[in-house]
Formats: sequence, structure tokens, C-alpha cells
Amino acid sequence: MATREMPERPDDVFFWRERAAQLEEALQSRIVIEQAKGILAERFGLGLEGSFGLIRHAARSNRMKIHVLARAVTTERETPKPIVRSLAAQAHVFVAVSREQRVADTEKLFKDLNLSIAELLDGKSGGFLCECGNPLCNETIDLDPEDLKMLHSRDGFYAIIVGHQIPDLETVVMENDRFAIVRNNGYAFD
Ligand SMILES: [Zn+2]
Repeated sequence: MATREMPERPDDVFFWRERAAQLEEALQSRIVIEQAKGILAERFGLGLEGSFGLIRHAARSNRMKIHVLARAVTTERETPKPIVRSLAAQAHVFVAVSREQRVADTEKLFKDLNLSIAELLDGKSGGFLCECGNPLCNETIDLDPEDLKMLHSRDGFYAIIVGHQIPDLETVVMENDRFAIVRNNGYAFD
């Protein structure tokens, strides 16, 4: 990503607009990569790190940009061929993890992404990603910064679309007309 020098005038509107567009583009790429990691983790029973290793290996072997391959994972129904070939060639490297661990990883991932979105929104309300354990979910929730603060105050709590809870792994602790907050049962609470 090409960046310009800092502007001579601090009120250079064009500079800041361009900077905001770059930030948003970087965030969009990151969201796509994270979603692709989640999808492949679920599909092949991998951990998120293994899933990212798989995308990176496949992209490198085929001289593709990681985010381009990631986008193909999120938009195509079938697994892209480069991924399949890498998986077949490196099956022993990409170790499977438990369903509980995958769900916990996915929730944590979307929570982290929402923190990035909060920074981008700079205190304003906006569309955050549903933090449910389904890596294919790309629905958004309108949250204000107070909701977000409450949500991020403790580990293991996530904001989801009402109905997106996984009953055997999560407990709904709060629900309103816009979203629900769930607790992952795998965390130890006092
Ligand atoms: Zn969801």
C-alpha cells in the first residue's frame, strides 16, 4: 500500500480522506482473511493458525496474494484448487482441533475484529460483526460504544444476532431487540 508523506497543512482534507480510504481497505482485506481462516478451520477441522498457514502456503505456491485467495474462499462454494492441493500435499502439517476450540477461536477472532472496527469508527456507533461461533456468519449488529464497552469488559462474552447462539456451548446472558450477549461455557467464571 503506497502512503504519502505527512501533509504540510494539517487541514489537508484530501490527505486525510485518502488515509481513511487506505485504512478501510486494509481492514476489509483483514476481515476477508479472517473469515477465510474461519471457514477453512470449520471445513477441515483445523485450528485458526493452521488454517492461516494453509492459506499462506497455497497463496505462495501459486504466486497469489493472500487476500485474493482468501476472497475466493469466502465467495466460492467449492474450496479453491490451490487450497486443496496444499492441504493434500501438507496434510500432516495442518493439525485438527476440537469443535469447542474452533468455536472459541471464532468468537475471539470476531471480537478482535470488532476492536479494530471500533478504532476505525473512533467512538461513533456503527455496524459491528456478529461474534457468533459460526465462521460463515457475516451479519452485522449496530452497537454504540457503551454496548461495546460492556461487551468487552470480560473474557468469554460476545455480542451476537439473536438466535445465533450455540446451545450446548454458550449461555445467553442478555437479549434486546438488536442483539444478544452470550457467554462461552468453556471459560471459568467467578
Ligand atoms: Zn452470527
